[in-house]
Amino acid sequence: MNSNEEKKYQELWNAVLEKIKESKLYDDAIYTTYIEPTKLFRINGNVALITVPNNVSNSIISGNLDQWKQCFAQAAGNEYTLQLILHKDVEKMMPAPMLKKQSDSLFEDRFNKLYTFDNFVVGKSNREAYAASIACCNYPGQFNNPLMIYGNSGLGKTHLLHAIGNYLKENRPESKVIYIYSEDIVTLLIEAMKNKDVHGNSVEDIKARFMECDFLLIDDIQRMKQSASQEIFFNLYNKLIAENKQIIITSDIHPSELKGIENRLISRFLSGLKVRVGSPEFETAKAILKKKIEGRNESIMIEDEVLDFIATKFSSDVRKLEGSLNELFFKAILENPGIIDLSFAQAVFSDEPIIVVEEDLSIGKIKACVCEYYGLTKSQIESKSRTKQISNARHIAVYICRKHLQVPFVKIGFSFGNRDHSTIMSSYEKAKKMIAQDPLFKTAVEQIEAKLGIR
Ligand code: ADP
Ligand code: MG
Repeated sequence: MNSNEEKKYQELWNAVLEKIKESKLYDDAIYTTYIEPTKLFRINGNVALITVPNNVSNSIISGNLDQWKQCFAQAAGNEYTLQLILHKDVEKMMPAPMLKKQSDSLFEDRFNKLYTFDNFVVGKSNREAYAASIACCNYPGQFNNPLMIYGNSGLGKTHLLHAIGNYLKENRPESKVIYIYSEDIVTLLIEAMKNKDVHGNSVEDIKARFMECDFLLIDDIQRMKQSASQEIFFNLYNKLIAENKQIIITSDIHPSELKGIENRLISRFLSGLKVRVGSPEFETAKAILKKKIEGRNESIMIEDEVLDFIATKFSSDVRKLEGSLNELFFKAILENPGIIDLSFAQAVFSDEPIIVVEEDLSIGKIKACVCEYYGLTKSQIESKSRTKQISNARHIAVYICRKHLQVPFVKIGFSFGNRDHSTIMSSYEKAKKMIAQDPLFKTAVEQIEAKLGIR
């Protein structure tokens, strides 16, 4: 899009916003927070794409879409269908034009200033990832190369990569840092392989640009797809490591379970340090909430027990934890309760079940929860391995299955690598004994049960 077009869109959108403002559809606080940051992104045929900053903004506008359409038609002189998209999704929606620019702007500072180490709450679930990230900044390429940070979505991996970028900018301003999504590497290389990219860069040029970096931060490696470019990437990767460039990779799944990536690349990734981020335990979840509240400068008070409530309810995903806070403050703007107390919060979230209810439990769910707690894969817990961590995890999973599902040992055996029912029975007995004798073991069981919502 050229700058003339951009200006035209901006003027049109200002006119629409002016009409919305005049219509007094929203009060000032809502208008400033949720309406003003919207933009007209593009007009395609009779569809106008509007970007909105977040889901709250999305639902507010969707609630009055007819009025918005009218205002838009008045300002534009034509009727359009309005389509809302989150700012953050725009990049994903329009990969080609965004990416074409990238080969020339690989080293651009694209770090979110709010995602810093200071703003990252450290707890048991992420301590290792946090420490390893800082160590990489200070001893690049020396140990832990590559550093692989893995764990479920919404648990702070991207935050850590941005924190690394921000930290380096401040403490090692001379270092050259590339932050890139894995699929963008592929697109860059493929574009250059076809002919040259729009800037006339050949594959060799792009490789040379990558080789200039001191730090390569690759986000979401699980999205890297099988393609002819993997050979080039493999060579580039080896060269970067050989020259002690620090590589830090994030993944939503355990690296050994990556699909679409050649095994030789996976085994290279596995050769460095792997650290897992898990769901925050209660105290960390609560501290994260406090941190996020601090950053918001809200005038309305929120009672401490509300934080307990949402920390318990949403701690499996920090993004949800944050989302719940947005929702709570949003409802508070609308309903002005004076103070956000437990009954207000309970009413806001009344539609969402607080815990996983018993009937939703399954052997699979229990296994997944235990794996997550111990940082194991499904195949590890089902394997014949007798390492202490794996067999303890297996004992716990078997114990919880038996205690809460009351299914026969034979059936549990099927789900744990086709084990014999007597082996499963003895696993169950071992767990019972250890719960009685080993307080740490007992705590682990209790925490897992709490995560499953059955305590
Ligand atoms: P991921 O990349 O693992 O899917 P993100 O890094 O995007 O997750 O995190 C989702 C949201 O949760 C972000 O807003 C991030 O700031 C926040 N978050 C996650 N973990 C923490 C933490 N330990 N402290 C503070 N904020 C966190
Ligand atoms: Mg991420």
